[in-house]
Amino acid sequence: MASPNPAPKKSAMAHIRNIGIMAHIDAGKTTVSERLLYLSGREHKIGEVHDGDTTMDWMVQERERGITITSAVTTFNWEVAPKSPAAAAGTIALPSKAEMHLIDTPGHVDFTIEVSRSLRVLDGAVTVFDGVSGVEPQTETVWRQADRYKVPRIGFINKMDRIGADYWRSLHMMEERFGEHCAPAALPIGTENKHRGIVELVERRAWVWDDPQDPVSVEIVDVPADMVDDVEKARNILLERIAIADDEFAMTWLETPDALSTNDIHAAIRRAVIANKLVPVLCGAALRNKGIQPLLNAIVLWLPSPDDVAEIDGVDPKTREPLHRPHDPKAPLAGLAFKVAMMGDDGRRLVFVRLYSGTLTAGMDVLNPTRGIKEKVSRIFQMHANKRDRIESIGAGNIVGVLGLKHTKTGDTICDPTKPILLEQIDAYEPVISQSIEPEQTRDRDKLLETLAKLADEDPTFRWREDPQTGQTIISGMGELHLDVLADRVRREFEVPARIGKPQVVYRETITATASEEDTFERQSEGDYLYGNIGVRIKPLERGTGNVVEWAFPPEGTVLPWFTEELKRIIKLGIDNQLNSGVLSGDPAQDIHVAITHVGWKEGINKPVGATIAASGALRKAMQAAKPARLAPIANVEVSTPPEYTGDVIGSINQRRGQIENMEEITPQVSHIKALVPIERMFGYSTELRSMSQGRASFQMTFSHYDIA
Ligand code: GDP
Ligand code: MG
Repeated sequence: MASPNPAPKKSAMAHIRNIGIMAHIDAGKTTVSERLLYLSGREHKIGEVHDGDTTMDWMVQERERGITITSAVTTFNWEVAPKSPAAAAGTIALPSKAEMHLIDTPGHVDFTIEVSRSLRVLDGAVTVFDGVSGVEPQTETVWRQADRYKVPRIGFINKMDRIGADYWRSLHMMEERFGEHCAPAALPIGTENKHRGIVELVERRAWVWDDPQDPVSVEIVDVPADMVDDVEKARNILLERIAIADDEFAMTWLETPDALSTNDIHAAIRRAVIANKLVPVLCGAALRNKGIQPLLNAIVLWLPSPDDVAEIDGVDPKTREPLHRPHDPKAPLAGLAFKVAMMGDDGRRLVFVRLYSGTLTAGMDVLNPTRGIKEKVSRIFQMHANKRDRIESIGAGNIVGVLGLKHTKTGDTICDPTKPILLEQIDAYEPVISQSIEPEQTRDRDKLLETLAKLADEDPTFRWREDPQTGQTIISGMGELHLDVLADRVRREFEVPARIGKPQVVYRETITATASEEDTFERQSEGDYLYGNIGVRIKPLERGTGNVVEWAFPPEGTVLPWFTEELKRIIKLGIDNQLNSGVLSGDPAQDIHVAITHVGWKEGINKPVGATIAASGALRKAMQAAKPARLAPIANVEVSTPPEYTGDVIGSINQRRGQIENMEEITPQVSHIKALVPIERMFGYSTELRSMSQGRASFQMTFSHYDIA
């Protein structure tokens, strides 16, 4: 047939694939990643998860838990082989090789920020399913997140060698939960201990891996005779679903199906996947090295390059006017920092950057418009899990590790200082769970504080502080597991034995009425005369505004020579100190308007600190009089559930004093329920939700705001 496809735009980026692997814990994400690296020739030894020496999971406590938390980036190459006969004939230009940047996405829900960070910067994903259990709740959660960021996907049903593995059952679960745009693209040849390989549906080719000792060698043969009918049936389902997704393909398929070459089909799949209208599903058994080469081919053939996704949007940092940057290494530099890690023992900061446009060169000055500072790029690395290759210069579309950026944090933009642009920021997350942490031996205290400071620099959702009242060190973060993992890193990676207390939510305070108070402080000792006399008037502000401090002194038209800037500063200090520790339980106060209405003065004052003390005292009295109230953190909770459980889910949210905001049927299989719920009531919710829905509902929780408990 005459090709309706314009030849793909030639660009330095068409061969790049920025991809992630998403999966439920234990589905085989790490095993699949290892195989991708091995077969691409990047790794010369296969690390097994159960041996605890895999390349991707390189943090000690990840190995022990067997879960993956850090998003490491790994670069490797792959060339499609064998090419389809039509490709050899050259009717349609299909991508034939790629430089892959594999971003290791974490699977656990508590690390939502890590997941959304990595989903933001990748262009396509492979979702791995366990062929026995099929779609698991966490896969649903991550799938929804990928929907939100419009990440094109292909599926891989893994573990076809396990007892109970069933390709069709898993695929039907995907159709049921996610919709019928999930389509078969391969069938297993045998399952359980008879699993030998797969049939690739587009090409009608059978791949057989019969030598367990040699993961690379594979035989490509004709479709086994007893599978021919099944293959035709499954292939028709695939073609039908491509036709539903892609009009151009539908026309030819309906009118002159014989004119369709396999390359036409690949090209249509590619368009439909990139448009997020089709998810082709492959299969195999990663642990047995089966199904990996076709998966690599599919990533090259079907998943987008940076060219295929829309240009990056941002704003002018000063005027906030919308700006755009093309995916072009010659355009002005624009990149997004999406992760900060500490490198090696000297603790240098390695900032992971996704380059959207322009070229990054070692030694260059860049602007960080998020913080309004200039930084110097000293070295650039292509990352291979915990190894790295130093490079001098690299263009748009790539993901690299950068040394030299001292203050750039996760979510910050870096750009050309002469062409500033601020890219959309990654959502800010407020840490809402806190725990005390203490070294087992007092002499480790300084080391502990130093370690906490380092961890807080890597992870913007992790904070620490010392409680002035109890002298305890308090760490806070996104959830119980988040803090658990960080405490683990303190113990193992930094070798500080430490104990942590029970998790608690982080409270704040506010006032609910107006009040005016005055306070006087006077003391004479050893020649010092301390005096302060301050009056304040306070009123509540709208929730979420923060605090506002204003001078309502001196009265208009009066000139007071003793009322200096230094005195004002010292009074303001007293006000701020008091706002930082409320009158109910010492938690920070917010949403209070403070007007300083009176400042008294006497001759002979030689130390102004009396004014600080009086300012704190006046404000404390006023806050006590203004009906103070405790503020609790409220979360946005989003539950994904099959519609039959919506009644129970709503009941469970009401019981936890939640407020339903919105309910929506996304597909006939999935409803979304959005609610605001006090975080202190959310402890244990995942267990409740799981048992209420036979494990099929899942939820995400992000901080929304503080409100009166
Ligand atoms: P992750 O948590 O998604 O990273 O999963 P892992 O890659 O750590 O795998 C979890 C467990 O499943 C490990 O014990 C693997 O050895 C095992 N596994 C992974 N792939 C396969 C497979 O294809 N077949 C079988 N039988 N086991 C597998
Ligand atoms: Mg893993």
